Amino acid sequence: MADTTINRHAVAERPARPVIALVVPCYNEEDALPVTAPVFVDVVRRLAESGLASPESFILFVNDGSADNTWYLIQRLHRSYPVIKGISLAHNRGQQNALFAGLMTVREHCDAAITVDADLQDSPEAILDMVRAYNEGADIVYGVRASRKTDSWFKRNSARAFYRLQKNLGLDTIYDHSEFRLMDRKALDCLSEYGETNLYLRGLMRHIGLRYEIVKYDRQERTAGSTKYSFGKLLSTSIDGITSFSARPMRLIFIIGLILLLLDIVVGVWVLVSHFQGRAISGWSSLMLSVWFLGSLVLIALGIIGEYIGKIFSEVKRRPRYAVADTVW
Ligand code: UDP
Ligand code: MG
Repeated sequence: MADTTINRHAVAERPARPVIALVVPCYNEEDALPVTAPVFVDVVRRLAESGLASPESFILFVNDGSADNTWYLIQRLHRSYPVIKGISLAHNRGQQNALFAGLMTVREHCDAAITVDADLQDSPEAILDMVRAYNEGADIVYGVRASRKTDSWFKRNSARAFYRLQKNLGLDTIYDHSEFRLMDRKALDCLSEYGETNLYLRGLMRHIGLRYEIVKYDRQERTAGSTKYSFGKLLSTSIDGITSFSARPMRLIFIIGLILLLLDIVVGVWVLVSHFQGRAISGWSSLMLSVWFLGSLVLIALGIIGEYIGKIFSEVKRRPRYAVADTVW
């Protein structure tokens, strides 16, 4: 456990045995849940037996509008294991909204919540470490991947490029941390105050601040089933992340415009000189290149501005982020 902002002299009051809620978003996880649910149950049992957490700790599965038998399975699991609870969203709202729905549901019932993927790629051992860090005073504990050896070459490198881009655009995020994290009651209360429709929890957590600690873990291969993130979904989450927290892309457009204006002056001089020297007939190639180049730049610029306007559009409507269709508690 490195990198900490905890002030050891000002550690918050902690309950002797905190109630921990594991919040697990599930979208079409009928293959993974039968394998992973017993492991989650076991983690909660170990938390209680080791004295790290209260025996009232529990698991909340959030069915994110799955098209398969996920909700049916969650209801069945609830009957076999009382520590398992569930809510079902009316539609597929994406992992961020599913997590938010889960966190807001458990907020009143726990001292700290841990968000973890249904496929158990995040290590159960690290859950214990997170609770230890919470007991020592951290308000937020970030799970950070020790390595990316289980990722494909493409995923590894695109993730790296994305973190770098985020950093250059002024976003405050924790490198190699995704949605595996512990939040205590204080962090959850702060999170509930954020009214935005376009959620990017990783960014919001850093915005909230509070005392944090980092727990390193090795990410495993997916237990069963396949990834619920298509390339399109991944790209759209990344764009959302950036445009929710940074207006720098629009500033960049302006700067590119200024640079092009300077270039334009140079080109203008060249065009005029050629004109007066009487050698201005050829030039099809340069014309074609600049028309296509400038055309794409204008479209990109419009697209970036459109992203922000789209965000404003969805924010001003202030629609609820999710609707809970069913609950088993
Ligand atoms: N997930 C979700 N809604 C979605 C997509 C994914 O709740 O629309 C959940 C999914 O069930 C899993 C977690 O988000 O628990 C992470 O998804 P996945 O494991 O497919 O992503 P990867 O690990 O491949 O990045
Ligand atoms: Mg996964």
